[in-house]
Amino acid sequence: MSKIIAIANQKGGVGKTTTSVNLGAGLASLGKRVLLVDIDPQGNTTSGVGVNKADVANCIYDVIINEVHPREAILETQVEGLHIIPATIQLAGAEIELVPTISRELRLKKSLHLVKADYDYILIDCPPSLGILTINSLTAADSVIIPIQCEYYALEGLSQLLNSVRLVQKHLNTSLQIEGVLLTMLDARTNLGIQVIEEVKKYFQEKVYQTIIPRNVRLSEAPSHGQSIMTYDPRSKGAEVYLELAKEVISYE
Ligand code: ADP
Ligand code: MG
Repeated sequence: MSKIIAIANQKGGVGKTTTSVNLGAGLASLGKRVLLVDIDPQGNTTSGVGVNKADVANCIYDVIINEVHPREAILETQVEGLHIIPATIQLAGAEIELVPTISRELRLKKSLHLVKADYDYILIDCPPSLGILTINSLTAADSVIIPIQCEYYALEGLSQLLNSVRLVQKHLNTSLQIEGVLLTMLDARTNLGIQVIEEVKKYFQEKVYQTIIPRNVRLSEAPSHGQSIMTYDPRSKGAEVYLELAKEVISYE
């Protein structure tokens, strides 16, 4: 059984990309076949797994706009079992170019359908907006993981995200579910983090993952080396917690 999971939150800097890369690598290290789909024009997931954007022949833009077969865009990474459809800055035009097209919200769903059976998990790293690329992702997905940073106003903006989820459920993808809510960047030295955890748990209840991602310097260093934490520093706390998260995600299969 394969599952498509969108990793979404329209706030930037909450850990979407870090989670896509490292949950993806964690799942792959547990023997799962994983495809990362980078649908953020910034392409941080792409560079985060060591793909040089200048060498990319086909990116997600070609897949959803030019209807290039996704297999023509898929690249392998250094992690066995972890593949990626990369994004380049070309994708920045897609929000506008998709507006007048027919069934514009269904583009990604149709494309990913062609390779879904090849993978156990397809993780889509969404851009920091609720525009057409995120809507495409929620429409293509079986479920969504919402990373929330443990900081003041953690829940701010979430009603807009949940509203988009509901709209997609109503009109485009009735089976879309919330896979889980992931607390990220916890600073264990402050009481604030504990308050935020309580607040988020009150709101999302059993949807909140037991695994909480702490702040970890190694996690922030790994992308500049084009590596997931699993290869950059497999003994770090960051690697430990993302592996734990991968196990938790698998346990809900
Ligand atoms: P998003 O994709 O939601 O914009 P990122 O995953 O890119 O967020 O994270 C924002 C920044 O925070 C990045 O520089 C990233 O390296 C850093 N970061 C993310 N998670 C952690 C963490 N658990 N510990 C330390 N730094 C982190
Ligand atoms: Mg990102």
